[in-house]
This record gives sequence, C-alpha cells and structure tokens, in this order.
Amino acid sequence: MNNCCWLDIAVQTPAHSGVGGLLSYRSPVAVVPGQLVRVPLGKREVMGVVWRVHAQAPEGIATSALKDIGAVLDGIAPLDEHWLKLVQFSAQYYQRSLGEVALSALPPQLRDLDPIQLARRLKKLPAATGPVHAATGPALSAQQSAVLQHIDQQAGPFLLFGNTGSGKTEVYLQAVQRLLQADPQAQALLMVPEINLTPQLEARVQERFGSEAVVSMHSGLTGPQRLKSWLAAHAGAARIVLGTRMAVFASMPQLKLIVVDEEHDASYKQQEGARYSARDLAVYRGRLLGAKVVLGSATPSLESWYQSRPADDAAGDPGGRYVRLHMPERVGAAALPQVRRVDMNHQARRAVLSAPLLQTLQDRVAKGEQSMLLLNRRGYAPVLHCADCGWKSECKHCSAFRVFHKIDRTLRCHHCGFTDRVPRACPACGNADIALMGRGTEQLEEHLGELLADVRRPDGGPVRIARIDADTTKLKGALESQLAQVHSGEVDILVGTQMIAKGHDFRRITLVAAINPDSALFSSDFRAPERLFALLMQAAGRAGRDADQGSRSEMLVQTFHPTHPLFEALKRHDYPAFAASELTDRTAAGLPPISHQALLRADARSQEVAQGFLSAARAALEAMLAAMPGGPELLEQVSLYPAVPLSMQRVADVERAQMLLESPSRSDLHKVLAQLHAVLHHLRGQPEHKGVIRWLVDVDPQAI
Ligand code: ADP
Ligand code: ZN
Ligand code: ZN
Repeated sequence: MNNCCWLDIAVQTPAHSGVGGLLSYRSPVAVVPGQLVRVPLGKREVMGVVWRVHAQAPEGIATSALKDIGAVLDGIAPLDEHWLKLVQFSAQYYQRSLGEVALSALPPQLRDLDPIQLARRLKKLPAATGPVHAATGPALSAQQSAVLQHIDQQAGPFLLFGNTGSGKTEVYLQAVQRLLQADPQAQALLMVPEINLTPQLEARVQERFGSEAVVSMHSGLTGPQRLKSWLAAHAGAARIVLGTRMAVFASMPQLKLIVVDEEHDASYKQQEGARYSARDLAVYRGRLLGAKVVLGSATPSLESWYQSRPADDAAGDPGGRYVRLHMPERVGAAALPQVRRVDMNHQARRAVLSAPLLQTLQDRVAKGEQSMLLLNRRGYAPVLHCADCGWKSECKHCSAFRVFHKIDRTLRCHHCGFTDRVPRACPACGNADIALMGRGTEQLEEHLGELLADVRRPDGGPVRIARIDADTTKLKGALESQLAQVHSGEVDILVGTQMIAKGHDFRRITLVAAINPDSALFSSDFRAPERLFALLMQAAGRAGRDADQGSRSEMLVQTFHPTHPLFEALKRHDYPAFAASELTDRTAAGLPPISHQALLRADARSQEVAQGFLSAARAALEAMLAAMPGGPELLEQVSLYPAVPLSMQRVADVERAQMLLESPSRSDLHKVLAQLHAVLHHLRGQPEHKGVIRWLVDVDPQAI
C-alpha cells in the first residue's frame, strides 16, 4: 500500500478523553493541516480535521494498526492556521479535548454531510467578493467621530464605554463600513449576546450593508441555514458575520475587525461543554490575527473595566492592556431618565406597587406614553405555601421551589422542568387554604389590570398591558411580534423580565420601574451587585431614547434600602463610581478581576460522594505539586479551597459540589490546572469514586 503520510486528526471524542481528541491515521493521498476528512472511528465514519501531517509513521505504534482515512472534503478550503490555533488555545485554556472543541465549533450539518451532498451545496453558494455598497449612515456626532478616529489610529483592543443611546451601534457600523471600503476582501465579525432579543439590530445591519454581504450565526438557525452561513463566511463571500457567542469560532479567512456588543453580558460565557468566554476569545483571536477588537458597553464587566484602567505612575501601575474610549452623551442630547428611589419601608405592607409608582403609571397612560415594569421572576407566584403545617411547593428533584403558573394551573420547576397540577388542598395536611407567596410577572400583569381598570388613555380607551418573558415567547416569532406591538405603540405598559431591559431601541417609553431589585444586594454571589447594576442601567436606558421625551423620562426603583451605594450610583448614572467601589471591595477580598478563578465541579447522587471526589482531588493535587520541582512555590500562589455544595445544590436529583481554585497569577493557576486531568483520571478509576456521574472544570466561572 502506498502511504504518503501519517496524520493527527481531531475527531469528536468524549470530553476528557486522555488522548486530547487527536487520533492517528494513515493517508494514501497528500493532505494539509486544516483539511476536513472523513475517518473511520469504531464502527462509524465521522468527520475530522487534519491537525498535523507527518512524513514518518508515529513511533511506538505498529503502522499496520492505523486505519486509512476516508474521503477528503476537498471542495472546502482547509481551515487556516489561525483557526487551528484559536481552537487549540481554547481547548487548552478551558480544559477540554481538542477534538471536542474543534468539532463543536463546526456546523453540525457539515459533520453529517457526505462529500457529494456537500459539493452540491457548495455549487449553490454566491461566492463573490468585492466592494460592498453600504447605505450612508447618519452624520456622526463629534464624540462618535473622535472614537472612530482612535479606532482607526490605534491598535486596541478597545473598550468603548458609551452610555445607552450614545450611538455605539452606529460606531460599530461605520467602523465596519470604513474597513470594507478600504479593503475589498476584509471581513468583520459583529457579536451580540442574544440575536433573538435584538431582531432590530439584524435588520439595521442588513439594511446598511445589503443582505448579500451579511450572514447570521446563532442557535436559532436551522441546520441548513447555519451551514450556509458558515460556508459563506469560510469562503469569504460573507463580509459580515452577525452572531452570538458561537460565532467567535466562525472560520473567516479575512477577518480584520471584531466587535463584541454588550460585552458585559453573561451569555458570552458558554455554560456547558467547553465553558469558554466568547468575549475573551475574541480578544485572543484579534491578537492572533492582528485584527482590531472593539468591546462595547454602557456597563462594562469589571474585568474589562479593570483591563482598561489608565496607568498610575505614582503607584507603579502601567495600566491595563485595553484602550478605553468614552461616549458620555446620548444622541441628539436626549437626557437619561431621572432616577427616583421609592422607599418601600414607608409603603403599605406587602404592597407590590407603591403609591408613587401607581400614580406615575396613571399619569403616563393618561398622556399616551409608554411604561415598562421590570420584575425578575416569571410565573404567577414563586411559592405555594400552607400556613397550617408549613408545607411549601418544593421540587422533589431540586433544591428549589416550584413556581405557580396560573394560566394552566400548574406548579413548575424552573430548573428541571418537573410540572404537575396545583393541588386543591395541602398535600401534607389536607388544609384547603393554601396561599401564594411572592409575585411573578404573570401576577403583576393581572394585578396591574385590576388597579388601572378605570384609567383612560387620551383616546378614551382602556389601558393596554403586555407581558414579555420566557413563557410568552416560547413560540417562534412570538417575541418579534410582541416587540413590534410595543414599537408601534399598541401597548401602554410592558411587564417583563430582564428580556425587555436589554438593547431594544424603544422610542416611546418614558417610565421604567424596577419592582423588586433588592435580593441581589445580599446575594452570596459576589457578582450579583455588578449584574444588578448593569441590568438597572440597561433598563434605565430604555427610557427617553427620543430626545423630545428625554426630559420627562423617569426610572422608579422600589427598594427597602434606598441609601444603598448601588442605588446612589444609579441615581447619578455613574458607572465609574460604582465600578470603583466594587473594585475596592474586590481588591480587599482578593476576588476577580484582581485574582483568577477556576472551579472543579463534581456531580453525584449524594453530596458525600461528590464532595469526597473533590476532597480526594485536592489532596492528590497537593501531594503531586509538593513533590514536583517548582510545585511548592505554585502551591503558595494558588489557593485550593475545600469542597462545598453549589448554591443550587440539587437539580433533577443530582447533587452538585464544587471546589474553588484561586490565584493572583493567571499563569500559576493554569500551571496547576494542567496537572488536574492526570489526577482526576486516576481518581475516577478508584472504586470509592464510582458514584461520580460527571466532573467538569470551569475556568473564569461567572457564578461561584
Ligand atoms: P447605542 O448602541 O449606544 O445604544 P445607537 O447606535 O443604537 O446607540 O443609537 C441610538 C439611536 O440614535 C438609534 O436610533 C440610532 O439610529 C440613532 N443615532 C446614532 N448615531 C446617530 C447620529 N450620529 N445621528 C443621528 N442619529 C443617530
Ligand atoms: Zn399543610
Ligand atoms: Zn426541579
């Protein structure tokens, strides 16, 4: 047999398979790294990516033991070296196998198609590159021009810190436009947290650049749509990719600009499989390619804020690696809403809607203006409860309460989905008088309808209330049509969860209210205040976007802690002050972004087994490092904390525990993580750890 070469090929193998996801094969024909091939794996044939090509057979393996590759997908240009490096870095940094990361970064349809089907698909694509004729945007404001000039002239990465409505999106569009005009082949990647939440943006980008030049990449696409987008980007025909976190892995051979909009948004962090941060990978990818990277937000993550701090010579601090650009003014000089805190200590006990809020709502309705009420809990009431025996509607599979949904009279667990009908009487003692505790969006909507039944709009009609949350938007297209109603003015009061606070360019809202934001102030998660502040600033940003109405716009915050510094900073729309005080606290506590963290998590049927595994891992890791050259020094730099249950301890009958690793030095942390796999594989083989269902590593976790 005439073998030309031996290949290391990335194939989808189970996570944590010690081989790192690369398998060896023989090839009778010449191939290059990055080429897509089909290879036999067990009884199946799967797709793989050629990673390395060797002229010699690998040592220590009988060459006869190696299988030949199958078809080469030579209709598709090989993935380039940069893409391979991006995947390699991600796998290493986030502690997953290379094959898993590589294959999950490709569209599923590509994995399943055979070469003949693929050739047919490829024929159908429009593979034209050339100048993109962009429609002209508005004349830039002075601060937009200044920011664009910086982006033109400096290397970045940039943190564009701009108020809601300051024209950041317009800056992104014009940066893309300049790039495409200057370079007839260049490609740009525009990342957004959740595309389905911002159909408006998709329309805006397509309108500006023409639908030929733009493709979308997100999980809402069908398999064939996603494949089409991927192929167009890979071939260079798509000049702009608009996508969610998965788009950070799009193959774009001429990528020159990456924008990460709302860079603080938690959805950039993948929460399963390889738990990557698309924002951080965007920065890495930009550096790898020499592409510009612009991160934008009105409330940057503290990580990016810290990374863009100016140099402090007196303190010997050279400053961060990002260039911070600031846009404080809203477009057309629209004012940010006045923030009013309503002290709930002085309101009727158990009132959901305070008297000042009700009054303001009535005024707005009477004037024909729109209001938005934010409540971060969907459903009707969070808990059903028996006053006689203390029974509560706990989920029997999770450490959580099931939520009452009035619309179909069910109790639903928002964690495992366990649902049944509401009991007529207490299941424990038979008491027929079981009561609801707490409020969700469904009840708020109903309650508002009752309270405002007599209020009339300027045209004499009754108040129109709409609700947007995960329950009302399950059906495809439901969110779009609900948002369209708000935009066209068919809704007077919009009730919803955080879904309505993000990104939307509402033009008629003059009142925003946060109904019950307090719980995040006292959360065990140190990032909870950061998230709350971002959410409230985003929500405030939905009001007064039209300059004509800006001066009248208001935000009401109902709270039992009106003098809390977070609300003081919110009142002044002062993100830098909030960030400074958070950073002081984080520094004192040695938390990110000052330090770096990783979590080792184990799931089992009992906490004992899960924690036992983690404790054994900790002991083994310590022993291993103590005996390793340089290991004792590493142990001084990296704290290994004892195993603890997760705050959501049990989900769907699985007990979850975690162990935190923390270090002021990222590289030291990663040196320790690099030892973890060997330790865990060894432990996994021991009988006392048989009960461990799974373990995983979460690097730079977003919730601990
Ligand atoms: P952000 O992304 O900061 O929230 P946008 O870019 O969406 O802000 O701008 C807010 C609104 O102002 C949008 O309706 C946009 O079309 C408009 N806009 C942005 N820049 C300009 C400009 N230079 N002139 C006129 N209107 C603008
Ligand atoms: Zn009872
Ligand atoms: Zn449950």
